Amino acid sequence: MSSNGVVFVTGGNRGIGLAIAQRFAQDGFKVAISYREQKPVEDFYMVKADVTDSKSIDAAIDEIEKNLGPLEVVVINAGTNKDALAMRLEDSDMEKIINTNLMGSIRVARRSVKSMIKNRKGRIIFIGSVVGMLGSPGQMVYASTKAGLIGAARSLAREVGSRGVTVNVVAPGYVDTDMTNDLDEARKDMITSSTPLGRTASASEIAGVVRFLASEDSSYITGAVIPVDGGLGMGH
Ligand code: NDP
Repeated sequence: MSSNGVVFVTGGNRGIGLAIAQRFAQDGFKVAISYREQKPVEDFYMVKADVTDSKSIDAAIDEIEKNLGPLEVVVINAGTNKDALAMRLEDSDMEKIINTNLMGSIRVARRSVKSMIKNRKGRIIFIGSVVGMLGSPGQMVYASTKAGLIGAARSLAREVGSRGVTVNVVAPGYVDTDMTNDLDEARKDMITSSTPLGRTASASEIAGVVRFLASEDSSYITGAVIPVDGGLGMGH
């Protein structure tokens, strides 16, 4: 993609999304991010949007395209989680996680490909998770949504490949962010001791792989799941 093209990162206001937005901005792209309440201190183009609301997503992308130009790269990063063992799952939590992580990602992707198809170029990058392949106790719903993104990405990759648009999934392992803050120390130790690299990832290590998938060097990669998990999933 052109290095001054338009990149949209959902949930680019904090955590992994912010690191991704910063990396693209450093490399000269025009970066737009979505946020709900909390704006980052950085000077990105910001749109207020909630991925659980199709109208909000459509309006946000309309605004970005009107002001910055057609989307070339979209990083579908916004996500949520609440761990609970299967027997204790609440309907409201299940619905929120599925509506945000799976339906929200599909909402963003289906609107984003419009101008990509027209311009015959584009990159869609979903942020999945190693647990979408490995499973994880307490994450039945979260892991389902992340597994679902793989089917979504591969189906979309087949639909839009002939138009020069690639669609891939980056599957991080454990990254220190607000999402993982609440895990107890014993669980964190268990995860790092099962990780061959013996440590967690920094958000910038995820951003580097996302950046690669938006570069010309990745032009023949589509429908792929790229693990960035220190070996935790060992290729699953
Ligand atoms: P954070 O909790 O730090 O950030 C989550 C982001 O998603 C925030 O920007 C949040 O926006 C946004 N978001 C949540 N719900 C919505 C919504 N309904 N509409 C719009 N935006 C929303 O998490 P991470 O940075 O850790 O996670 C980013 C992605 O990476 C997620 O998809 C997560 O599943 C995935 N991931 C994270 C891992 C980790 O170890 N941290 C491991 C593997 C994958 P707001 O500020 O408005 O709440």
